[in-house]
Amino acid sequence: MLKINNLHASVEATEILKGIDFEMGPGEVHAIMGPNGSGKSTLSKILAGDESYEVTDGSVTFDGQDLFEMEPEERARAGVFLGFQYPVEIPGVSNSYFLKAAVNAAREARGEGEIDPVSFLKMARERAQWVKLDESLLSRPVNAGFSGGEKKRNEIFHMAMLEPRLCILDETDSGLDIDALRAVADGVNSMRDPQRSFLIITHYQRLLSYIVPDHVHVMVNGRIVRSGGKELAEELERTGYALFEDEEAA
Ligand code: ADP
Ligand code: MG
Ligand code: MG
Repeated sequence: MLKINNLHASVEATEILKGIDFEMGPGEVHAIMGPNGSGKSTLSKILAGDESYEVTDGSVTFDGQDLFEMEPEERARAGVFLGFQYPVEIPGVSNSYFLKAAVNAAREARGEGEIDPVSFLKMARERAQWVKLDESLLSRPVNAGFSGGEKKRNEIFHMAMLEPRLCILDETDSGLDIDALRAVADGVNSMRDPQRSFLIITHYQRLLSYIVPDHVHVMVNGRIVRSGGKELAEELERTGYALFEDEEAA
């Protein structure tokens, strides 16, 4: 589904990604872990189409298509979803109004018709439950005055409604209390599907004890320095990143 080959990227002449390689198949959950500043957010933003980064070498394909030939909107229409570390507030637009427009745009991109209001409401109520999002938040302006935990639940709720093929979550766990963390994990787990893949970026092993990844990659200084199974996350929790940082420096 996603193939990243020798990806190099810079910002203002500083190289941040220094040759990233990995592949994700449909239905797989991959985690990227690594210390602050290693380039994890840069990778996720490049995949979503943020143009402040310059791709200087390498390639990325999504379903065999060159991702860099696709505008950010086309990537979204093709089913690439990036969860933001800091969700935006949209005062004056209700959460459900915004979401219905987004769901219909996603359906149109998949060649499906508009959703009828009754089905939309049913689906919204059901999926809000996946992340234990209070129903009253559906009628409030998007994210306005939501607590940190409510914003994250809302983000996962939106993702569940949009049914993307590739879900990229960048530090969705940062600043969450244990209940919100579980709610986010329950949402993701409810969405797991043989056709849907997840790229989960996190500093901590905690989230990965709820969302069990198929593959774990360690990113240090713009490179993947080690890949393994879920046990690699547990190992990192014990050893920290220092060992990898030393290896990388050597
Ligand atoms: P991580 O998400 O792993 O903490 P980032 O991808 O956010 O790391 O950042 C990697 C490095 O790139 C950091 O040194 C950061 O300061 C730098 N960087 C990222 N984005 C920009 C930018 N827009 N302008 C300047 N430097 C940036
Ligand atoms: Mg960071
Ligand atoms: Mg980051």
